[in-house]
Amino acid sequence: MTERASGTGACPICGKPAATEYRPFCSKRCADVDLSRWLGGVYRVETEESPDAPKKDED
Ligand SMILES: [Zn+2]
Repeated sequence: MTERASGTGACPICGKPAATEYRPFCSKRCADVDLSRWLGGVYRVETEESPDAPKKDED
């Protein structure tokens, strides 16, 4: 019995198999990384965009 057929795919952060408990991530750490990106404004959605804000894409 393996957990390969979970259908959750790989962790978007590190690429490891996702854990059911933290999917789509493999661990709390990776979930936290994603959350940090959120808070960091990487995934800025539906916010008032300041016309003065320069867009930096150095990722
Ligand atoms: Zn991960």
